[in-house]
Parts: sequence; C-alpha cells; structure tokens
Amino acid sequence: MSSKGFDRKHSLVIALALLGLGLATLLGYYFIYVPHMKEEETITQTSMILMDTVVDVRVDGRGSADLVKKAFAVMEGLEKSLSRFEEESEVSKVNDQAGAWVKVSPTTLKLIQLGIEIGEKTEGAFDITIGAVLDLWGFGTGRHQVPDDEELAQALATVDYRQIEVDQTKGQVRIPAGTVLDLGGIAKGFIVDNGTALLRQGKVQRSIINAGGDISVIGRRPDNEPWRVGVQDPDLPSDIRWILPLDNRSVVTSGDYQRYFIQDGQRWHHIIDPKTGYPARGLKSVTIVGGDAATSDALSTAVFVLGMEEGRALVEKSPNIEGILISEDDVWISPGLASVVVAQ
Ligand code: AMP
Ligand code: MG
Repeated sequence: MSSKGFDRKHSLVIALALLGLGLATLLGYYFIYVPHMKEEETITQTSMILMDTVVDVRVDGRGSADLVKKAFAVMEGLEKSLSRFEEESEVSKVNDQAGAWVKVSPTTLKLIQLGIEIGEKTEGAFDITIGAVLDLWGFGTGRHQVPDDEELAQALATVDYRQIEVDQTKGQVRIPAGTVLDLGGIAKGFIVDNGTALLRQGKVQRSIINAGGDISVIGRRPDNEPWRVGVQDPDLPSDIRWILPLDNRSVVTSGDYQRYFIQDGQRWHHIIDPKTGYPARGLKSVTIVGGDAATSDALSTAVFVLGMEEGRALVEKSPNIEGILISEDDVWISPGLASVVVAQ
C-alpha cells in the first residue's frame, strides 16, 4: 500500500472515531445528563388526609416522588398504630385491655414514654391519660356537648399519667382499668418527625412536611433563604399575623380555633385542663419552635393549658425552645424569636 493510501485510511479511522465520540457525547448528554439534571430539579408536592388533617409533603431533588411516597407510607403506618379511633391500633389495644399488660412496638413505647416525660416536665398540664374526659366532651366522636359535673368528676378520676406503667425490657405498657390513653396532643408531631427522618435518610436537599400546622423542614428554600412559616391570627385564622423563618427545625401551633363547638354562646375547644376537666381558658394560641415536632407538639398543648404566666416560664426554662403566646389582650414572643419574626 502506498503511504498516501495509508494516510487516507488513517484519517478516515480518526474521523470515524471522532464522529463516534461526538455521537456518544451527544447521546450521553440527552439520555443521561439531561434526565439527571431534570431529576435534580424535580419538586414533588403531595397532600393526603391523615390524622383528620391535610398533610402536605414537599420534597426537592433526586428521587423526590419516591421519597414522598415512602414518607406518606411511614406516616400512614404510624397513624394506624397511634390513633385510638382505629380499632386495631396499638393504642386501642392498650385501652381495650386497660388493667392488663399489653405488648406494643418499640416506636409506640417510645412515644408513650415521651408523653409521660412531658407530663412530668409540665406537672400534669400535659397528660396523655386525658381520653375519658375528651370522650365526655365528644372530641373524637363528634357528639359534642358540655358534660355534667358528676360525669366529669368521674372521668377526671381516671386521668393521671403517673399511673402508666412502662416495661422497657418486655416492651409492654399497662394503664389502670377505666383510664383512656389519648396521644392526640403529641402524635401528630411524632408522625411528622418520622416522615422527616425518612427524608433525611434519603438525603433530600430540602423538604417541608406540614400536618395542619405541625411543620418540620429540612434545608433551606431554593434561594438559600430559610423557609418561612406563617403564624395565624387566632381571631381570624385566615389571616397571618407573623412570619417566622425556619431552618432545619419544627414549628407547632395549638389554638382554640382548631377544634371546637359552640354551646350556650360559649366556645368549647379541644385542649383540656386536666385540673378542671374544662377547656383551658386564658390563651388563644400557642406556637412553639423546637428541634423536633413531637416535643414542640406536646409543649404547645401544655403551654396552652398553663396559660400566659406559667406557660411563658416553661418556654423560658426549656433549652432550644421558643414560643409565641397569644391571649385575649396580650402577646408574648420569646427573646430568641422576637428579633427574627416579621409582623404582617
Ligand atoms: P394540640 O392540637 O396539639 O394542642 O392537641 C390537642 C389534642 O390533644 C386534643 O385533641 C386531645 O386529643 C389532646 N389533649 C387535649 N388536652 C390535653 C392535655 N391536657 N394533655 C394532653 N393531651 C391533651
Ligand atoms: Mg400539641
């Protein structure tokens, strides 16, 4: 072969190789890189009714659709074991067999334990044995009425978190006969925490779970600013009174406008003072910001029961807890929040 022929063939091979390389790059760009980038940008936002409230989950980034699905599955599963209105739930078993030891999952045991601890911390303002009293008021069943004093006294006699026995080794719990366990003041936050934990394991860039005001976030907004959460005006819940920035934390609000009925011209709401058996009077709403949603949830209920002065003292002495307390004629914003909330 002449050297000319060899050169021509050589150039042809090089040209073909370059063409192949170019084609591969192009195909790689369209079939691997572009879909990958699209994945990165994907935002999945889904709502579902859980625990009687609309639960919103937003996740940004790779695999977001799958992670949202998994987060809902975890939360749905937990609701099934923690709600006392689900016949087959673990809490229903504890209630149905009150007086006897009942085996429960480590997760349920953990939440009951946390409920007891917050009972201790708040000297019983938060009490997860409040179920019988709630039943009399019809919260849960929907048959709302103001109970008579005798019935109320009987129900109140079954309320005492100190009577709950927990056997960690055997994974079981026992409540006295007649007592009704109700995790309504803490379970929502706990469920949100578990959804958030799953998303954290999935290494999501950013997310927000909002279960009717029990909110937990990961990361920051796409513009690298903290998430913003609105605090409602308890007198006009469609109005936002403050905006607070939220960075990898949780915020929970308890309010007298969330669940209530009107009888004899009065509003009877769902947050009960375990000392009296009546809806706690004094505050209209309590917003708590904390590291985890379960603790924030329980504390928002407890602070609501304690009222302005004692509630404020509890927020002040709790490490890493901030709060906004609103009464008829007063507002208190804890020092750690005062400088960052924006009034609307
Ligand atoms: P939250 O909306 O988080 O303030 O919780 C209110 C729910 O907690 C009610 O619907 C009840 O299920 C439950 N609850 C009411 N009063 C108390 C209380 N004093 N301690 C613990 N749980 C309570
Ligand atoms: Mg609560």
